Amino acid sequence: MTAANITRRAVLAGGTSALAAGIFAAHSSATPLNGSGEALEVHVIVIDGLRNDEVNPDLMPHVASLDSASIRYANANAIQIAETLPNHTAMMTGVSPARSGVPANKIYDRDERKFRNLDRPQDLTAPTILERLRTERGITTASVLSKDYLHGLFQGRATVHWNPAPLIPLTDHAPDAATMDALLRIMVDHSPRMTFTNLGDVDRVGHIDVTGNDIRLARTAAVRHTDTQVRRFVSFLKESGRWNRSVVILIADHSMDWSRPLSLISLHVPFSLDPMLRDNIEIADNGGASLWYWTGDPALRDDAVERMRQIAMLHPGIDSVHAAGVLNLGPRGGDAVAFCKPGWRFTDPTVLSNPIPGNHGHGVTLPIPLIVTGGHPQLPGKLTVSDAVTTMDVAPTVAALFGLVPPPNGWDGTALPAVM
Ligand SMILES: [Zn+2]
Repeated sequence: MTAANITRRAVLAGGTSALAAGIFAAHSSATPLNGSGEALEVHVIVIDGLRNDEVNPDLMPHVASLDSASIRYANANAIQIAETLPNHTAMMTGVSPARSGVPANKIYDRDERKFRNLDRPQDLTAPTILERLRTERGITTASVLSKDYLHGLFQGRATVHWNPAPLIPLTDHAPDAATMDALLRIMVDHSPRMTFTNLGDVDRVGHIDVTGNDIRLARTAAVRHTDTQVRRFVSFLKESGRWNRSVVILIADHSMDWSRPLSLISLHVPFSLDPMLRDNIEIADNGGASLWYWTGDPALRDDAVERMRQIAMLHPGIDSVHAAGVLNLGPRGGDAVAFCKPGWRFTDPTVLSNPIPGNHGHGVTLPIPLIVTGGHPQLPGKLTVSDAVTTMDVAPTVAALFGLVPPPNGWDGTALPAVM
């Protein structure tokens, strides 16, 4: 088979209207609202933290083999911050963190004056396609999210919302085998036409894999196991007759990097030694990203951010510092964000605060695998798309497939080229 390389421009040159016509033709003829036996199904499966180099025939023989009849996006990226909550949110809302309210996993909550994960249903301030498909199109949706904080954030959105169990102590996630059991059970019991699943093992094992970037012993075992879980789902779709009406989006929410034992960046002490910053700064540690919140006189914010930037840039391992507004993170993202270089990690308030070697959030962890597969006759077959796409493009794609109109003020993402 030969891979065709296309660009978004090439697709659009064929006509935005042609693309849209394909989408709407697909559904006007094939999708009654309440899901008959022949109705289109869309399944989004997130392999949490998967790297592009792990999608190969040795580690993931099944996922790699899907490639032979799939659209592969060679230039797919997470949005910043390259963490779990913001990128799952991006996938289901199609809008930036400034609009969704979810810029990072962990923030400093100025109202409550404490650090916390964005794991409450009310933290998500934008509509998701999970409830919009349900209420506007009468489509049964399901969320099957292995991680406890994801479960919390998305509570109340989908028609069927799985409560992850059994939760593994410390990692607060359900193992992939249990998550896949749940997804298959929900498929049988509820016949959802749109599902959103997070498989957490690859990420959770990756965080604690002390063998690092070159060896990845535990990580490798997890990747192989997760490949078998994806195979279970594809086999189920085929055996139950759903494959030929399904579009399956296989994606990661971010990648993974491993820090060297002594490549640590701790900014609390150097910030505290500065008379202006002392007692007026909070640092929300997000692995490869560090979010800074100025809590002093608002009139001094710009000066304070500049002072923080100057102090931080003297530290080895700092890659870049950005005003949060530049990254479109919204007010919860703080006043400035620093990213580390590959092989480093942030650890605040002390050098012992973050003992986890595997981490993400920084630039090297933005590239992600993204494959669109399935047996739906309108999928084009094997194709490599070189356009830059992001996790924010998932919601507009699913919406277009089901004929769901954009939200008020539109999407920030764009429907994936070549899906239909
Ligand atoms: Zn993740």
